[in-house]
Amino acid sequence: MALIEFSDKGLYCSQGNFYIDPWRPVQKAVITHAHSDHARAGSANYLCHQLTRPLLLARLGPQNIETVEWAQPVYINGVNLSLHPAGHIIGSSQVRVEYQGEVWVVSGDYKTENDGLSGVFEAIPCNTFITESTFGLPIYKWEKQTRIYSAIQDWVKKNNAAGITSVLLAYSLGKAQRILLPLVETGLTVFVHGAIAVMQDALQNSGYTLPAVTRITPETPRENIRGQVIIAPPGADGSPWINKFSPYEVGVCSGWMQVRGNIRRRNADAGFALSDHADWEGLVKAVKATGAEKVFVTHGFQSAFSRWLNENGIESAEVKTEYNPAEEESQDSINNTTAEL
Ligand SMILES: [Zn+2]
Ligand SMILES: [Zn+2]
Repeated sequence: MALIEFSDKGLYCSQGNFYIDPWRPVQKAVITHAHSDHARAGSANYLCHQLTRPLLLARLGPQNIETVEWAQPVYINGVNLSLHPAGHIIGSSQVRVEYQGEVWVVSGDYKTENDGLSGVFEAIPCNTFITESTFGLPIYKWEKQTRIYSAIQDWVKKNNAAGITSVLLAYSLGKAQRILLPLVETGLTVFVHGAIAVMQDALQNSGYTLPAVTRITPETPRENIRGQVIIAPPGADGSPWINKFSPYEVGVCSGWMQVRGNIRRRNADAGFALSDHADWEGLVKAVKATGAEKVFVTHGFQSAFSRWLNENGIESAEVKTEYNPAEEESQDSINNTTAEL
């Protein structure tokens, strides 16, 4: 029997009797990170990295959560389980599972560029690697984040000089925290939508330090906001909430912005191809660095990436999961957003 099986509830280790990022309620769930398609409510017990805990509580409400540090081993029925940095968002972890000398690693979502917040992605040697493939096509090649940050800074300063408010659409968990520092560096005040303030509060209340932001409430004087910066989740786009900040321009922060037409399709004024996932080269390098003999490819462009691996001498198969293949485009649904207004 395989050390990790692909069951109808999620990735399952029968020897240790636990699931990794299950999409149905289970007895024991090991969670890679707090994005909604990986961390679902209803399981009896959760195990995650200590930085994921406050985010999990903020998103799921009270839960039984056991936390570990990266590389801290947990022994369950002869299985040695440990978490290792995935570099995707704060607390995001890969899951290493070892039993009788055989090692499997589940990547969760990952990014190979160090963003200074999420830990530095580590390639973990293993026999079998289960990788995501959100941007698993060769057309996805990220620019260095420092260049993207400069482009964002130039854009908000240009808007400020014209008395226009910059609204940056960024996922409330991950992207929103990542763009804070470059925005604060401009000297402008950074206002945030409630959905982002909730994540900020959860992190800060657990001792994590982030640059200061101002939560927008119905009482916030509109003239204070004019010409400054607002970070809002993508679902806020086109809502009555956003219209109150006119005149404004909208910039979208997402890896999908690498494809030119997407800026127009989103009806955005600017697009910044800043992603919390590995690009094509990052995926290929990460897979090779694990030295895995077998690679399973999950959510994203799994058939294209899996085919490429097979053609290049790495045995691979695609696996269907219920992780959202376009997570970066749907992380904050309209419902989630309006509930926070
Ligand atoms: Zn994710
Ligand atoms: Zn994902």
